[in-house]
Amino acid sequence: MWFKDHSPGEVVGPRLRLAGVKFFIDGCGLDTMYLSEPHADDPSNLGAFFWGRRELQRLVRRVHGAGWQIAAHACGDAATDEILRALERAFGAGGGADARTRIEHVIALRDDQLKRMRRMGVLPSFQLTFVDSTWKRDLRQIFGRERFDMLGRWRDLMEDTRLHAIGSTDSPYGGDDLQPTPVMEALVQATTRVGRPGTRPTAYMREQRLTVMQALEALTVRGAYGVFAEDELGMLRAGMLADVVVLSEDPRDVPRAKLERIDVAMVFVGGILEVCAAGYEAWCPSAVTARLDVSPGAGSGSSTVTLADQGCTDRSRGETRGGGMRKLWAGLFMSLDGPRRGPSRPACSR
Ligand SMILES: [Zn+2]
Repeated sequence: MWFKDHSPGEVVGPRLRLAGVKFFIDGCGLDTMYLSEPHADDPSNLGAFFWGRRELQRLVRRVHGAGWQIAAHACGDAATDEILRALERAFGAGGGADARTRIEHVIALRDDQLKRMRRMGVLPSFQLTFVDSTWKRDLRQIFGRERFDMLGRWRDLMEDTRLHAIGSTDSPYGGDDLQPTPVMEALVQATTRVGRPGTRPTAYMREQRLTVMQALEALTVRGAYGVFAEDELGMLRAGMLADVVVLSEDPRDVPRAKLERIDVAMVFVGGILEVCAAGYEAWCPSAVTARLDVSPGAGSGSSTVTLADQGCTDRSRGETRGGGMRKLWAGLFMSLDGPRRGPSRPACSR
């Protein structure tokens, strides 16, 4: 119980803080997803529940009572039942809506669970790359056809105005060889449900595809809300952290099937240019620092950005070189922390 030695929200470094405590309720694999009805391919298997019910309830009450935000990993519907039951007891009469408790992955969800989450103010947190066509054989094995309507309900979650669903990439994830999940891949998969090239999504996956704007909203504004950071992350707005990526094309104008062709041209963290991608050097400001001016919001997730290249100061001559304005069209936010103020103009390199 590592959290005993720390306090909620403890700042470890300029870009790292202790956000909360994660409970692993079940597995996410073929044999381990914990379901309320047996796996379709094995009537003796309900999956794996990693806790004793009382033990889970006791620890959830303790962690919630100590002021930590809880994120509970629950892939199967029975795992979600267990964590919701434990949370109901921990919240007691006071309710827990302010705690923004998250249930992670929510691969299988029933309508009665959505209703409970609405009532309790619990946030379903889904990963945009989960439940794509790469999984379809595995999912058919576990759930059979009659339970497909429980699976990967991203669109239902995003369109439910009484729920506050949040999105992320859960990156890196996987087994021993932890894999990173590029954000652009998440955008492609959530909007097409295509996994590996050449695989076709099934009908239930197509029904739950997100629009590009829904996917952007899940990854930006809503993701920030999920970590109590909506006042500084998730939107292009004056006063917020300038963590921005510049893309080669506006994803709202590109057909879904072609989203993959979009490149990340630049990455700014805290207003500082950290990455200028090969092939996009001509777009990048000449100095390593730039100021971002944001036009009044075009809604969540994207907006017009004017990139003011500050140029650099030639200290021997006492004059400024370079600089100028460059208008770019869009940006997406990354959930990275960074300094609040932009840097001052740097010295010219010789
Ligand atoms: Zn997890």
